[in-house]
Formats: sequence, structure tokens, C-alpha cells
Amino acid sequence: MQSTAYILSGSNLGDRMKMLLDAEDLIEKYAGIISAESKVYETAAWGNTNQSSFLNKVIRISTPHSPEALLNILLEAELKLGRIRDEKWGPRTIDLDILYYNNEIIKSAILTIPHPEIGNRRFTLVPLCDIAAEYIHPIVKKNNNELLNQCSDQSEVKLFSQP
Ligand code: AMP
Repeated sequence: MQSTAYILSGSNLGDRMKMLLDAEDLIEKYAGIISAESKVYETAAWGNTNQSSFLNKVIRISTPHSPEALLNILLEAELKLGRIRDEKWGPRTIDLDILYYNNEIIKSAILTIPHPEIGNRRFTLVPLCDIAAEYIHPIVKKNNNELLNQCSDQSEVKLFSQP
């Protein structure tokens, strides 16, 4: 059985665009087929503004894997691409977050779905609305476009490139 998941990718270290593309190669190899992709946006670093800006993008995948298995595949991909986990909001070659997984609501020690910060971050909502504007958040019961319109985050999210 196939499930649908939305994944946010972000990079602010090294060749950022290549990191996003390499992450997609690993996702297609191990996680599932990419069925939609947003444009790429450039956003100021969040939480720690004393570092270079991020490229962010959202993709939709069709996957046979459970949410936990998908998380492990993404963590593995982050490691393969050289992410070193140190500072909480430090620079990162690649960060991969599961935003939604079908309409599921999951709260475990290792996984929270929908991702708890979706509604608070323009760098997530802007690319998400490229490919899933009408998708309804299963807890808040509003679609992503409504979440973007009511989002209080003021950070600038600039178009960087088309898919
Ligand atoms: P970070 O990459 O620093 O944002 O945090 C990664 C950790 O967050 C992972 O090891 C997961 O256990 C945890 N986590 C909880 N919910 C999610 C989610 N929806 N997507 C990705 N990681 C998550």
C-alpha cells in the first residue's frame, strides 16, 4: 500500500542546491517516488540569524514505508550527505522533515506528525502552498493556504528557482 508524505528539505551549507538535489536522489532511491515538487526559496536562517541563508523546498512522495521507517530513511540520507548534528539551530548541509503523512496524527518519542512547526514558519508554508495549498491540516482543520494567511512569521521567503 502506498502512502503520501510531504517532506521539507533545507540546506544552508556548501552547495545548497546540490544538497537538495542529492537528497532527492536518495529519497527516490530509498523512500519512494517524488510526485510533486515546489519551487526553491531562499530564507534567512531561523532561530540563529548569525548564519547564512537557507534554500528550502517541499516535495510530495508516494511511499510504501511506515512513518517511522520513512523517518529513518531521511535521517540516514542526512548522514550520507554529511550532516553533523551539533548546535540545535546550527548550519546544516541538509535537514529533512516530515510535514504530513496521509492524514495521520502521530505523537511518539521520535516522531510528531503533522510537524508541529508547520503553522509557524513561512519558509515551510510558502513552498508547501506551491503543491498542497488546499490540503487540510488534520489537527487544525485549516488548509495550508489559510495557515499561510494567518501565519505571524515575518521572515522574508524569496523565490530562488523554479522546479
Ligand atoms: P532536527 O533535524 O534537528 O529538526 O530534528 C530531527 C529529530 O526530530 C529527528 O531525530 C526526529 O526524531 C525528530 N522528529 C520529530 N518529528 C519529526 C518530523 N515530523 N520529521 C522529522 N523529524 C522529526
